[in-house]
Amino acid sequence: MPRGDGMLTHELDPQDRGPQDACGVFGIYAPEEEVSKLTYFGLYALQHRGQESAGIASSSGDKILVYKDMGLVSQVFDEGSLSALRGHIAVGHARYSTTGASTWANAQPTLGPTKHGTVALGHNGNLTNTHTLLDLVTERLGADRRASLEHGGATDTAILTALLGWDRYETVTETALELLPHVEGAYCLAFMDEETLYAARDPQGVRPLVLGRVPSGGWVVASETAALDIVGAIFEREVEPGEFLTIDASGVHSRHFAKAKPKGCVFEYVYLARPDTHINGRSLQAARVEMGRQLAREAPVEADMVMPTPESGTPAAVGYAQGSGIPFGQGLVKNAYVGRTFIQPSQTLRQLGIRLKLNPLREQIEGKRLVVVDDSIVRGNTQRAVVAMLRESGAAEVHLRISSPPIQWPCFYGIDFPTRDELIGVRMSVNEIRDHLGADSLSYISVEGMIAATEQAEERLCTACFTGEYPIEPPINAKHLLVNQPVEVTS
Ligand code: SF4
Repeated sequence: MPRGDGMLTHELDPQDRGPQDACGVFGIYAPEEEVSKLTYFGLYALQHRGQESAGIASSSGDKILVYKDMGLVSQVFDEGSLSALRGHIAVGHARYSTTGASTWANAQPTLGPTKHGTVALGHNGNLTNTHTLLDLVTERLGADRRASLEHGGATDTAILTALLGWDRYETVTETALELLPHVEGAYCLAFMDEETLYAARDPQGVRPLVLGRVPSGGWVVASETAALDIVGAIFEREVEPGEFLTIDASGVHSRHFAKAKPKGCVFEYVYLARPDTHINGRSLQAARVEMGRQLAREAPVEADMVMPTPESGTPAAVGYAQGSGIPFGQGLVKNAYVGRTFIQPSQTLRQLGIRLKLNPLREQIEGKRLVVVDDSIVRGNTQRAVVAMLRESGAAEVHLRISSPPIQWPCFYGIDFPTRDELIGVRMSVNEIRDHLGADSLSYISVEGMIAATEQAEERLCTACFTGEYPIEPPINAKHLLVNQPVEVTS
């Protein structure tokens, strides 16, 4: 069986993060609460969805204030900035850039003029028809506005914000209801003007968005139920695909701008959303544990211990241990904060490599046949370093089990996978990947097994990154990314 060759540098590879999510959004209308503080804690709960920049806009009914900057939520805000953000309405955003550069100018919420005031908008997802929307900008706002948007890099969020400023209608509600049917792709929007909180979800409902009730009176919309929990809001319901909400002193008003054609992202169940979040009634912790049980049924192996690649592999490893009867143990300790620092490691630290992130527990590993469970393999660099590290720590055998199928296709709906020629699942067969990673065996869960664990109907899920079956037409300028580039396989 192949072995780690001991020549690996185990360097911490900044390109080998897990799949990156587009963003987290949070909106609140609550007259009795300090809304900017609740938004801060809501964003704190959504930090895993975007770590590049954070922002909050607030209003007490007459003008919108916004504060945003590069960095983690806890780095961007302090007591001073939060207390300046007064009001009873707020929208917050934690950003990971899938379109547009990671710069202050692209941090959200984005601000734009409307006919009678200002709008502040936070967006999670990726639009697939920005070329059409830019044509709408020309038609409705003029060529100069389009030119200035394109000059500024024109993120899809900036284009939407500009289009909400069309002055044909009197209200933001009318403008949004006219605009949203033109918008294609994945989007969960939380936005506000001086007096009203708005929320919208694309007709496929690719990304999650939920509505919660604030016990003191008021409402919250958030990307995940975990963000409701942290601010003490009570889950009311999902925002429906194709639904537009207005929330003000008179309560929540719902309209549908398109027929729902649900295609929720299956990868939210596998990895993206927090395990303590529920999507469409399904606990993600329970779904991930079930994926592990299913893996144990599909790919059994004789071994002494089941261990996760922490943290994201943990629920599936628990499931694999339950399903196989092999004891669960921790073989690696994760330093939770190292991947989130802005300080680049020095050369010496880089050579320590993966140990900055993960450190082996030798006494747990030595002499054992290990089943190592992870949620996904993107480029494979981390798994390769983990296998080598476990062998150096005395593991007798290392069997990799992955709780999602091989990632084969790019995502156009807000998740930042590398291009096809960088995805190891495209470049190599499963056996080649096993050899490349230095594992004794490697198995992925089947597409059917993964879907069954979500307890969602197959036709209501997007599985495109595994199957290539795209529920929404990919952007016309991205078709070349679907071509299988000939690549040289290196080992
Ligand atoms: S392509 Fe994959 S990551 Fe993107 S929305 Fe579909 S299932 Fe989710």
